[in-house]
Amino acid sequence: VVSDFGRILFQPPSAVLKPQSSRDISLLLSFLSGSSLSKVTVAARGAGHSIHGQAQALDGIVVEMCSLPSEIEFYKGGEGEISYADVSGGVMWIELLEQSLKLGLAPRSWTDYLYLTVGGTLSNAGISGQTFKHGPQISNVLQLDVVTGRGEIVTCSPSKDADLFNAVLGGLGQFGIITRARILLQEAPKKVKWVRAFYDDFGTFSKDQELLVSMPDLLDYVEGFIVLNEQSLHSSSVAFPANVNFSPDFGTKNSPKIYYCIEFAVHDYQNKDTNLEQVVEVISKQMSHMVSQLYCVEVSYFDFLNRVRMEEMSLRRLGMWEVHHPWLNMFVPKAGINTFRDLLMDDISPDNFVGLILIYPLLRDKWDTNTSVVLPDAGSTDRVMYVVGILRSANPDDGCSHQCLQDLLRRHRRIANTAGARIGAKQYLGHHPTPSGWHQHFGWRWERFAECKARFDPLRTLGPGQGIFPRSNNAAYGS
Ligand code: FAD
Repeated sequence: VVSDFGRILFQPPSAVLKPQSSRDISLLLSFLSGSSLSKVTVAARGAGHSIHGQAQALDGIVVEMCSLPSEIEFYKGGEGEISYADVSGGVMWIELLEQSLKLGLAPRSWTDYLYLTVGGTLSNAGISGQTFKHGPQISNVLQLDVVTGRGEIVTCSPSKDADLFNAVLGGLGQFGIITRARILLQEAPKKVKWVRAFYDDFGTFSKDQELLVSMPDLLDYVEGFIVLNEQSLHSSSVAFPANVNFSPDFGTKNSPKIYYCIEFAVHDYQNKDTNLEQVVEVISKQMSHMVSQLYCVEVSYFDFLNRVRMEEMSLRRLGMWEVHHPWLNMFVPKAGINTFRDLLMDDISPDNFVGLILIYPLLRDKWDTNTSVVLPDAGSTDRVMYVVGILRSANPDDGCSHQCLQDLLRRHRRIANTAGARIGAKQYLGHHPTPSGWHQHFGWRWERFAECKARFDPLRTLGPGQGIFPRSNNAAYGS
């Protein structure tokens, strides 16, 4: 509970609560809100996979959500009806996948990595290659059980206590603790055709990505990444069982040449009698990738969704998992994606970049703007926006200790600030060192966010690690 996946901040709490029920959490928060002089803060901790101490509570109390009994109950609807699962907030998505597959069902919207908790990703958004089709995970929730900062236990949904429901989704743990979520399910495919295509030109790459997300009836997943060097060509390929016969010329240090890779996937639904090869062919014929640089594999749905676990195991073996992770994720308006790419490449030396740079399009209309999530303002009629993840690893044993880490963090901050000011990009899973940085992040949405804080967590007990609402003893908040 002292640190997280980022390994950048270490803020020890004074106590850890291992709740056995929502009532335990409610008792704690009711007690704290009854004593208005209490300075104690409380952070829910899911799997602790944050980067910047978001689930930490210096000298406060950490609520370990995985201690809650890991309950998953299913409702399987008949023909034309919906199916869903009621899941404890501390359950990891991998557990839900394993259980739901036994019934031939699965959630529709995922994150790339499944060892994250339901409560943790719903507090952010939860995005992956399915988001263009089904929206983020927060668009696929029917109901929540929440313990508010005041200690009240509330079951909320779009039709009951909708203000709390919307505030908590993407709410960065500021309003309440999610103890249970009702997740929409669909029929699970058995197999997936998983395709990778390479590009040597950014414009062609992004044009093809936008083409792919315009075909939701044909495909089920679209992502992509920048191929900066040999390591980035192979590091993300552990789970992709194809013989990739691509040996690009990466140029020289002074004149580097970089490449791009689109990933897409097509599900095989048992009842639909689809010929996956034909579907892949129909799609790929419309693409403009490098000649003969298209690779296709067939894997089980489970292996496809669990692909990052294979990367994790490989990185663990190399001692490269438990290292610093100065990550920066940003939502970028379509109109600014070329500028963002240039900004990024001005700051990166392809030959020594360790990690992965993800880049893929999302569709705005799949996001519910009533939730707390912050997206770039829709300045034009563009339906498309991008998410870019600069997922660096910085290994102290490989020469990147304190100074080097601070330097990377400074660079990322510069990219984030410049992209925010110039093209209206917004951080995802963001970190802002000052409350004024947060005001700017929320922009016109700040008032609503602050009002919800005053309503659901008036003593500012929850989520201190985010640094959005500094704590004071005076209960007169709201601005
Ligand atoms: P924690 O880090 O424990 O908590 C995150 C925040 O949520 C904290 O503020 C915490 O207080 C709050 N919180 C936790 N549980 C609850 C709860 N039950 N109720 C209320 N608040 C709560 N994200 C994506 O969207 N897509 C990806 O593809 C993706 N891939 C990732 C891959 C890796 C390897 C890693 C490390 C992270 C990835 N993430 C991805 C980011 C991930 O979604 C966030 O870091 C998320 O916060 C992690 O969930 P967690 O359970 O570890 O939450």
